[in-house]
Amino acid sequence: MEPDSGRADPRTIVIAGGGTAGWMTAAALGRFLGKAMRIRLVESDEIGTIGVGESTIPQIRVFNQALGIDEDSFVRATQATFKLAIEFVGWLRPGHRYMHAFGDIGRDSGLAPFHHSWLRGRREGVARDLACYSLNNMAALGERMQRGPARTAAMLPDMPYAFQFDAGLYAAFLRRFAEERGVVRTQGRIAQVERDAQSGDVSALILADGQSIRGDMFIDCTGFGGLLIARTLGSEFEDWSHWLPCDRAMAVPSGRTDAFTPYTRATAHGAGWQWRIPLQHRTGNGIVYASGHLSDDEAASRLLANLDSEPLGDPRPLRFTTGKRKEMWKANVIAVGLSAGFLEPLESTSIHLIQTAISRLLKLLPGDRPTQAQRDRFNRESDFEYARIRDFLILHYRANARNELFWQERRAATVPEALADRIALWEADGHIVREQDELFTEVAWLQVFAGQGLVPAGNHPLADVPSRAGLAEYLDLIEKLIAREVAQMPTHAGFIAAHCAARAAA
Ligand code: FAD
Repeated sequence: MEPDSGRADPRTIVIAGGGTAGWMTAAALGRFLGKAMRIRLVESDEIGTIGVGESTIPQIRVFNQALGIDEDSFVRATQATFKLAIEFVGWLRPGHRYMHAFGDIGRDSGLAPFHHSWLRGRREGVARDLACYSLNNMAALGERMQRGPARTAAMLPDMPYAFQFDAGLYAAFLRRFAEERGVVRTQGRIAQVERDAQSGDVSALILADGQSIRGDMFIDCTGFGGLLIARTLGSEFEDWSHWLPCDRAMAVPSGRTDAFTPYTRATAHGAGWQWRIPLQHRTGNGIVYASGHLSDDEAASRLLANLDSEPLGDPRPLRFTTGKRKEMWKANVIAVGLSAGFLEPLESTSIHLIQTAISRLLKLLPGDRPTQAQRDRFNRESDFEYARIRDFLILHYRANARNELFWQERRAATVPEALADRIALWEADGHIVREQDELFTEVAWLQVFAGQGLVPAGNHPLADVPSRAGLAEYLDLIEKLIAREVAQMPTHAGFIAAHCAARAAA
């Protein structure tokens, strides 16, 4: 269908690649620009997608809502479950566990964030585990789920949630959505990329069967290979593997279990970690490891030995390097998804980075031709976002008390200056500062600092004002209100059965 914008010759945006990045981009561009521009997508069945990426963070709901997607239909179509937190098992030392739960913790009193009261309370023996003051954490532990405001006390925060879903089904769901909004899909392998001799811009994708797909702007969603941004335009890769050395993974699905935990589990092992992501129809599993410390064969047997249901195939190996492209927007090409960079899957940030790249693209969408100012802005914002997430991930590895060589090296390694500054701020008096609009909030940093065993020497002086008895009463009240709220929530499995059970799993 022709766009009806009134322009004689509507511009064409071509998306190269049809993985999660390609179809999320196509769905958003179809939804918001479908009437003003031609949107095309090229994908190759022969090459396929990476086929992992099942755990998300709450911002995915903003994306789905912006597109006008009905949540329960989406959950059913993608065999999704709800996610309230990530559980970290064995990251401080074997046997230890904590959660990074979404949502607020406790209740701030005056100027000092809640955690200063908790730090003082802990020192004085009147505070319980940090988890007791987080609605998400307690609901996750109890395998409960509800949507909307708290039912039993107005002072309790909302319970933000994300999804654990089948990435292939999500891409298929978005494909239907995008095609209904005029996005034109072509199946075929891109064999050659044509460039304008004068400007150096990409002008067309030439497919193996000879078809030529011309465009004004190109979105590179071709995955790790970065066919346009790297192989054609030569945007360099900034390698961060000296900070985050895991470089391989093996993924294997296993049978459905009744324990649809409303959280993803990340269990540390001697040279990395293993994920467990329960969906309605199966469980996603994978092992992430540093190849210098663990062989592929050992990784495969370790993965298979730690499943809680029968494997549904053989482990599938994946290789990656943590880092990002120096320029994610170069000439008339914008990289979105794995072609732009990858920060290992520990905090489930990749799909979110696709989402923010799309909103940045929509915000800075050029008129007739992209300008250097637009590219610079896009690249600066992306750099900041990637670097702050990188630092958050490094913290999980850095503060550990494990004995294996891999973990000893992580403890001894130097960290980026910005992270060293944050750790120093925390270790003195428990201060946490969120920079600009970086992804992870103060409470996210708090849970990982505390979970990884970093204890500050002091706390904000304002938290010293109440009496010890007053502080104990305050902490006790929050804990009781949270426990009462969680007790009346349906179970996670019951909630899914009532609202959004997928057909195959019903
Ligand atoms: P791909 O899925 O690789 O898609 C590339 C597309 O480009 C395909 O359609 C392919 O056919 C096409 N293509 C490539 N070359 C050509 C060509 N020459 N011609 C035509 N088409 C071509 N993210 C999360 O948010 N949560 C997670 O839990 C998570 N876990 C992960 C675990 C691991 C081990 C890894 C490696 C990644 C994980 N990710 C996760 C990241 C997530 O998988 C990706 O961000 C997401 O799948 C997007 O991938 P993509 O679309 O960029 O690339």
